Order: sequence, then C-alpha cells, then structure tokens
Amino acid sequence: MTTAFLFDLDGTLVDSVYQHVRAWHLALRDEGIDLSVWRIHRKIGMSGGLFTNQLLRELGREVDLETIDRLRLRHAEHYLSLSHEVRPLPGSVELLQTLSALDLPWAIGTSGRLVTAEPNVRSLGLEPDAIALVTRDQVQYAKPDPDLFVEAARRVDATTVGSYVIGDSIWDMLAAARCGALGIGLLSGGYGREELERAGALRVYDDPGDMLGHLDEIAPRTRD
Ligand SMILES: [Mg+2]
Repeated sequence: MTTAFLFDLDGTLVDSVYQHVRAWHLALRDEGIDLSVWRIHRKIGMSGGLFTNQLLRELGREVDLETIDRLRLRHAEHYLSLSHEVRPLPGSVELLQTLSALDLPWAIGTSGRLVTAEPNVRSLGLEPDAIALVTRDQVQYAKPDPDLFVEAARRVDATTVGSYVIGDSIWDMLAAARCGALGIGLLSGGYGREELERAGALRVYDDPGDMLGHLDEIAPRTRD
C-alpha cells in the first residue's frame, strides 16, 4: 500500500493565512458587511461557499448565490494584490524535496481556486503544472468534504486510506477523518494544538520544518 503525503497549501506550506483573512475582510467590507477579523480567521481553510454561507448566517443575512459569487471574486482580487507578500513557511521547500528524494509521493489539495493557489505554489519554487495539485475548481466539494484529498491521492496513484493529510486547520483534519487518512496538524496557520487534536490530528508539529525534523516518526521506512 502506498502512503502518500497530502498537503493543504495555505498555512501549511505557505505563510498566507493572514493575507487570505485580510482579503475576505476587504471583500466583505465591499459588500457593506463589517465582520471582526477573528471570525473570518476561524473559517479560513474551508470551502469558500460554505465559508460565506456560515459567516452570513451568523450575521443573520440572506445568502444568495450572486452575493457569494461576488464575494469570491472580490476576495480573489484583494488576495492577488497581497500575494506578493506570501512566503514559504520555514522548512516547506526542504520537506517536499526530502519526500521526493525518499521516493515518498506527495500532492497538494487546496480549498483555494487555481487563481489564488498559483502564486502560492510558485512561491515554493514549484510550477503548478509540474506537480500533483488539486484546487477547488477541480472537485465538487471543498473541505471539510474529503474530495480534494481523494483526488490528490489519485494523482499520485495512492488512496487516502492510510495516507497522511497534513494541514493547519480543523477542516483539514475533519476531511482527513472522512476519507480514512491520518491527520497531521501544523500550528503554522494559527489554530491551537488542542483544537487540531480534538479534530483528529494524530501528531501536531509547529511548521513544515518541525515536521521534517520528526519525519522518522511518521514516514514509512524506505531503508533499514
Ligand atoms: Mg490551510
């Protein structure tokens, strides 16, 4: 059985959570919706549609598809104007290089659409076309549904059962549990250790560099 490493992108490999929060904050403000930043942060990493649905419901506002579409487009515009600030998280480039060197398959499954994922992937020194990358545009449902990770595993000839899902949010951990994968939580997106563990994370590390330092705890052995 192939063990694949299925990564979330924002807050897991790249340091982009605050730019996403800021972009949603601005997009909502464009719609006349003033929402505290922490409420937005709590929902980052889940599907954009679900995210706006939940936020607007909390505000007691009517949710219609046009508003959701408009918010999504405005978020993408604002995000792209901030994305030049986004940097890889410590150790992410080295972690992916190490997995490749050990012949351990890895892929990325992100709730973001290709338009916002592209600059983030490039910031890792990777070409979006040259890696196994699954974006929101390519599956029916995003996290906490498991579709993104199921498709990411398929791209590297693996299944999610027994593979690892590595993410910074509870939505990643819930998606992992729903497809039989083992959740690994990273603190680099701002969620706490207890929250990630309660959502199913088997191990929690600070960031990709910390996970690389503990790879022998989780990686299948490729040599004695
Ligand atoms: Mg994330």
